[in-house]
Formats: sequence, C-alpha cells, structure tokens
Amino acid sequence: LEDFPYQHALILGLAKSGTAAAKLLLDSDVNVRVNDYKASYDDPVVQELEKAGAEVVLGGHPVSALDGIDVMVKNPGIPYDNSLVAEAEKRNLPVITEVELAAHLHHGPIVGITGSNGKTTTTTLTHEMLKASGKDSRIAGNIGEVSCEVARETTNDQPMVIELSSFQLMGIEKFRPTVAVLLNIYEAHLDYHKTLENYQHAKARLFKNQTDDDYLIYNADDPVIAKFLDDAASVLVPFSAKQELEEGAYADEQYIYYNQSPVMKREDIVLVGEHNMENILAAVAAAKLNGATNEGIQKVLTSFKGVPHRLEFVANIKGRLFYNDSKATNILATSKALGAFKQPVILLAGGLDRGNSFEELVPFLDHVKAMVVFGETADKMTQAAEQAGIAEIKKVDNVGQAAQVAFDLSGEKDVILLSPACASWDQYTTFEERGHMYVQAVHKLK
Ligand code: ADP
Repeated sequence: LEDFPYQHALILGLAKSGTAAAKLLLDSDVNVRVNDYKASYDDPVVQELEKAGAEVVLGGHPVSALDGIDVMVKNPGIPYDNSLVAEAEKRNLPVITEVELAAHLHHGPIVGITGSNGKTTTTTLTHEMLKASGKDSRIAGNIGEVSCEVARETTNDQPMVIELSSFQLMGIEKFRPTVAVLLNIYEAHLDYHKTLENYQHAKARLFKNQTDDDYLIYNADDPVIAKFLDDAASVLVPFSAKQELEEGAYADEQYIYYNQSPVMKREDIVLVGEHNMENILAAVAAAKLNGATNEGIQKVLTSFKGVPHRLEFVANIKGRLFYNDSKATNILATSKALGAFKQPVILLAGGLDRGNSFEELVPFLDHVKAMVVFGETADKMTQAAEQAGIAEIKKVDNVGQAAQVAFDLSGEKDVILLSPACASWDQYTTFEERGHMYVQAVHKLK
C-alpha cells in the first residue's frame, strides 16, 4: 500500500469486500479490527482473520469498536445512518470503501465506470474490447471481483476496468481513474442517499481527483451530467446516440464513429436497443483511450450477445429471434426493451403483484402481435393487452411453457421477448433463475 497514511483500521461489514480489505491491510502491517453484526466466531473467514492478527468484534456495533481507530473501511452497502458510521463521522474519522485501497496499489490505467443504468454492460464491453485488442485488461468492482484484491495482482501496464456504484464512490479519497465514464444520472437509491442532490454528487465524485492528464467520458444528452461538467479538471470526451459530434463517440444510421472516423458498421452489431448504443459508444471511447483497435472493437460487437438476462440474445430458431430480459422487473425496463425492436414482437410478461396496473405499458405495445402472460399479474397483463388491442393473449403457468406457446404462435422474423415487467418472487427465487428456466426451454425448441 503506497501513500496510505493510516495505522489502525476498523473494517465494518465482513462480506467479500470487507474480508479482502482486512487481508490486504493485515499484509500491509496495518492494525485491523473487524466488526460485523451477523457473522459468527465459528465462521472460517473470521477464524482465518483472527489467526492473521485481526481483532474481531461481532454481534453488534459497540461504539468502543472505534477507540484507537484512525480510518474506517466500510462495506459500500452499509448506510451512513448506521450507528457506528455516524459515530465515526462525529469523531471526524475518514470513512472509506475498499476501492480506495485499490488506488493505493494499482498505478496503471484505471477505467472507472458509473451511472444509474448500464454499468455492467459498459464495463464488460470495455474490458472485452481491450482484451480483443491484445491488452491484458482486468475487470473488477460491483460486477464481480473485489477491486483491492485484483489490484494486488496487477502490473502498471495492465488496465483495470472497474464498475463503481454511488455507494463505493462515497468512500473515495484519492481514487483517481485515468479514464472516467459517466453514463447517466437518474433518480435512484433515495433510501440510501436521502436526496437526489446527494445521489448526483456521489456520482460526480468519480472525477473529483482527476487532473488534465485524465479523461472524462460523458453522455452528451444527459441534462443532469451537464450540470457537473464545469467541476471536472479532466479532458472531456462526449458520447451520443442521438447527435453527431465533432469529437468523442457517436453513431448515425450506418456507422459508429470515434473522433469522426468510422469504427464499424452498425448492422454488424448484435446488441439491440438505444440504451445499449449509449453503452457501446461509452465503451468504444474508453477502449480507444486505452489503445484499443477497430478490429478488437469489431470482434466484440459482432459477437457480444449482452449481459445475461439484460436484453440478452438467446437464439435464432427457425427464423424466430429469442431474447431474455428477465432483469426487467418494472414497466420502464420492459418499455425500453420493447423500444429496441421495430419488427413484430411476442411479449412474455408477468410475475409478482405489487398492486400496480400495467396501463402504462399499453403505449409501448403497438408492435406486439401476441402476449403470453404468467404469474400473479397474469390477469392484469391480460387487461393491458386487451386495452392495446392485441388479438392473441395466452395464459400459461411458467416461463418454460411461455417459450413453447410463443414459438407456436410465431412466424418467421418475429422477436420472442421475455421481459416480465414484474419481479420474479411469486414463482422464482431470483430474476436469474427465471431467465435460466426460459433460456433452457428455448434451447429445447431447437
Ligand atoms: P447496471 O449495472 O447499471 O445495473 P446493466 O448494464 O446491468 O446496468 O443494465 C441493467 C438494465 O438497465 C438493462 O436491462 C436496461 O433495462 C437498463 N439500461 C442499460 N443501459 C442503459 C442506459 N445506458 N440507459 C438507460 N437504461 C439502461
């Protein structure tokens, strides 16, 4: 750990990231105390940390856990009104997250990606584009491996591509991405951040340590982001799926461009949807700034089918295109998915009943030729489908049956789309499980 001024750390929250942070600090000769509400002294991880020299305080959040401490490393998910976090702030102790630790280890390029939506897709695309261009990129953050753990293994030539939540960004001090990507800022996580302004400011922390050697890639069509750009010291690189730009990344009907030169043909891209075009353009800019080639970018975009369960292309079976958008657990997400297609769609929807109607979905159903409904909301979905004048409406028991029934109703070139507009918990433990059941059923149709 370089330039890390603290000697006595309290790790709050022993999930994957807390454990990784504790191990790293112990190995760096920092005194470590860990505090967790739920963990037990019998847990192998707890025993391992104790053996390595950590002091372990479990079962509650006693204020004394902060005595003698000069820094708190907080799990990003723990809110600031947690009693111990509030006490740390009262004592003026710095409260950081593990990604800050990564900044004291990794001195190579860092692509830091945040936004309300599209983080996982853009992070994956950027990483894949760099790899396909011969770069030894590492992916970390929200998406999987803990950043400070990955940073222990990297060399200074290796780019790290890190997906960052606003929770993680709240806890940075010196973390400085060489390339920052700000995708969009919508209203979100108000339970945690309390106000929209706090949330927006958390996102803008992404570039607070950047200098004029660094780059900030931003969505040129986002009015909230526009408000923050004056605060950035970095070189600004816009992207837009809507307008032609003199610099940065944009697309017209035929090509996508970076700094006005064509990168590839649009029709060769597998990913669909305008929101994904934004993610693609952001990733192209980030990859280009780290030395990616057009060939590398083309290789990824002609084969990448999407992050699983997010408008993911599943298969072409006898000319029918099957998509899995099981992650779409609300009307907004499903309306976006529907907007990605111009051809006739058979929509598979339904799930947990949260008490709302699906009237707001009706305006997006004009190119939906049939609907297959299931779950607690099956009857409400039927009402919406009738309101939209859809002739074929079938009720089934589960997503597996839905795939079969949709196939029977379909013609060549139709899109068959699972985009439920509801949470999965009435029938499935997670949206992933729901998606898997659907994908399995689709592959059986072959
Ligand atoms: P995140 O990691 O930020 O949750 P994902 O890449 O996993 O984002 O995408 C999750 C969902 O968010 C997608 O299924 C889609 O509905 C929506 N989405 C993705 N990218 C964007 C974008 N650029 N703008 C708006 N919505 C998006």
